[in-house]
Amino acid sequence: MYQDTKCIEGGYTPKNGESRMIPIVQSTTFKYDTSADMGKLFDLEASGYFYSRLQNPTNDYVAAKIAELEGGTAAMLTSSGQAANFFAIFNIATAGDHVVASASIYGGTYNLFKVTMAKMGIEFTFVEPDCTDEELDAAFQENTKAVFGETIANPALTVFDFERFANAAHAHGVPLIVDNTFATPINCRPFQWGADIVTHSTTKYMDGHDATVGGCIVDSGKFDWMANADKFPGLCTPDESYHGIVYAEKFGKEGAYITKATSQLMRDFGAIQAPMNAYLINLGLESLAVRMARHCENGQAVAEFLEQHPNVSWVNYPGLKSSKDYERAKKYMPNGTCGVVSFGVKGGREAAEKFMSALSLAIIATHVADAHTCVLHPASSTHRQLSDQELLECGVPGDMVRLSCGIEDKRDIIADLDQALKSI
Ligand SMILES: *Cc1c(COP(=O)(O)O)cnc(C)c1O
Repeated sequence: MYQDTKCIEGGYTPKNGESRMIPIVQSTTFKYDTSADMGKLFDLEASGYFYSRLQNPTNDYVAAKIAELEGGTAAMLTSSGQAANFFAIFNIATAGDHVVASASIYGGTYNLFKVTMAKMGIEFTFVEPDCTDEELDAAFQENTKAVFGETIANPALTVFDFERFANAAHAHGVPLIVDNTFATPINCRPFQWGADIVTHSTTKYMDGHDATVGGCIVDSGKFDWMANADKFPGLCTPDESYHGIVYAEKFGKEGAYITKATSQLMRDFGAIQAPMNAYLINLGLESLAVRMARHCENGQAVAEFLEQHPNVSWVNYPGLKSSKDYERAKKYMPNGTCGVVSFGVKGGREAAEKFMSALSLAIIATHVADAHTCVLHPASSTHRQLSDQELLECGVPGDMVRLSCGIEDKRDIIADLDQALKSI
């Protein structure tokens, strides 16, 4: 099936007489005839549902659709993108371990790694996205358990150098985890370029309508945990909380990672997606391919308009020939990147704020990547916890405006930008 078709048909096939839309199984619990039946589920001897903190049918239909779109073998939904990235790492790294991450990532993820996960004893080394091979190699340690990057960094829009980071990760016997939120599997499928695990904030394009916060983790099923068993004791040695199950033996490469994330991390942390929210994400997924094409068309037109505007000092959009990542974007995302454009307003911080308040169609919002065009000044909002030095490390200069092109008519978006730029 083509990606556009999977958006509609993937994950759920109703049988004769069943509902065409995925059912919302709004139930915390599930009934069994005998204790023995339920015991098998607790022992992971049989698959099925018993409590929605661990698994729920509505969530599983949606996770299966996203797994199909990414070309993975298993997936789980989480309550948010933050939970997805936390689980993705914590499933294989624990106190005393180390992770190599691209420095060009979402500010929330950067805080999670640098501050909160550091308190849990997991150390991160951030490398510049364009560091040399030697610098990348030198970032690895004996205790490194994963490499992390973002397909298109939010908001720096850096395009991830997949093959280089994948090669480095695999040479050191660890998986590459990629946050594919901005590109979505419509524009990029990281597994084709060597990623082993993909994460999403489904809050963005996948939902696409400002309706619901959510996340997802997808496993490619390709990483050979057993071949690197000394590094991944959580997957390759008995789990005493499950009667000594060895996940990598019992569920193989295809299922071990997500089964462990479900049965340990969801069980203990409980960052589950509500079934109603999963239903809403599914509605968004049905039109994802159609919407992404429009987001990219609008992003490209707006970037080209801004680039020739006298009141704009610089424009960053991977679809512009002037972008340092243009060639890389063409290679990994030949059909387009995303609808997010960043630029500097001439006159710096003050002019940028004046410009933003003069907009009428584009709203000021922390959000990005949905149907409505919105605009944000990262340095004074999403990234305000970061020091000036950290801002630079993340590729977010103080004068930067982040504009997320929605799916309105591009002529209206451009007219709004034009009048606001002229007013300063
Ligand atoms: C928004 C975002 C997140 C965090 O997701 P939430 O759903 O807001 O928790 C993670 N990564 C990227 C790239 C994002 O844009």
